[in-house]
Amino acid sequence: MSGASVKVAVRVRPFNSRETSKESKCIIQMQGNSTSIINPKNPKEAPKSFSFDYSYWSHTSPEDPCFASQNRVYNDIGKEMLLHAFEGYNVCIFAYGQTGAGKSYTMMGKQEESQAGIIPQLCEELFEKINDNCNEEMSYSVEVSYMEIYCERVRDLLNPKNKGNLRVREHPLLGPYVEDLSKLAVTSYTDIADLMDAGNKARTVAATNMNETSSRSHAVFTIVFTQKKHDAETNLSTEKVSKISLVDLAGSERADSTGAKGTRLKEGANINKSLTTLGKVISALAEVSKKKKKTDFIPYRDSVLTWLLRENLGMLTTEMNFLFGSRYADRAKQIKCNAVINEDPN
Ligand code: ADP
Repeated sequence: MSGASVKVAVRVRPFNSRETSKESKCIIQMQGNSTSIINPKNPKEAPKSFSFDYSYWSHTSPEDPCFASQNRVYNDIGKEMLLHAFEGYNVCIFAYGQTGAGKSYTMMGKQEESQAGIIPQLCEELFEKINDNCNEEMSYSVEVSYMEIYCERVRDLLNPKNKGNLRVREHPLLGPYVEDLSKLAVTSYTDIADLMDAGNKARTVAATNMNETSSRSHAVFTIVFTQKKHDAETNLSTEKVSKISLVDLAGSERADSTGAKGTRLKEGANINKSLTTLGKVISALAEVSKKKKKTDFIPYRDSVLTWLLRENLGMLTTEMNFLFGSRYADRAKQIKCNAVINEDPN
């Protein structure tokens, strides 16, 4: 994989009507890739600055170099991930932030044209590329699943009739997976758009004191993408399988800051648990990659979210690329062998 294995972007949404009517002041400044926060209690204090791969602004006009349209966000982040998936890597995009910060807008966007988020734009380009490259030698197949992780339990968004919670299991070769999760074959962008629509309607949405439509669950949209190459001379086929995970995380606010009680408090604790574990896993991977730590223990199993995304997260750093590379190669070899046997049983 060329360049850094992990890229981090920050995006500031415009004021909503409540903030505008209260004449709220913006305490964020952006310059290049740097984002600074002004201390509202002491505006004279030097702002705290943070560097990101990308800093995206919403308040100004499209001429501002930091202004980010949905298209720009996709071109910077989604496009590259799609290219890596075509190279055979597992890739993952997360949206993290407080409820109302713009995660769903960034991942899904709005129905209106030019406001489509990363997921629909990526799916559209995936099929454009497939149609451009499909020929006698190359064939492709795409399967999607859409699940919700709510209070450490998994629900199938593509089969909401299946009310029960699905079991998370581990395959010795393929790693963690959700038993009985629907995986639907799709052949066009329209197929995916219809499934996403149905899945989004099925998402658990519960009101809190903070935001009427705040989402309290993690939504994981997964595309398993298989590229099959057929060699006419030898009559053998090889397969390359990549997993693209697109995750709209639950709100990162602390349960107590939203005035939650009872069930809502339990939800908050579970959301915090998976987000805290996600942070710990990413830090542990970074430590291992920097060789600061001798141990390579990564607490994937501490939350359902990180356990299920282990294959994607393990590819996060260059060092881990290597660590998981061999495992990945074994798996690829196995899949390749299966494909050969399928193709030519004699
Ligand atoms: P979250 O998923 O983090 O809870 P949403 O994506 O639902 O937040 O965003 C909250 C509101 O702000 C929505 O009405 C959304 O359309 C709007 N919004 C978020 N980000 C942007 C943006 N970059 N530009 C314009 N509107 C935005």
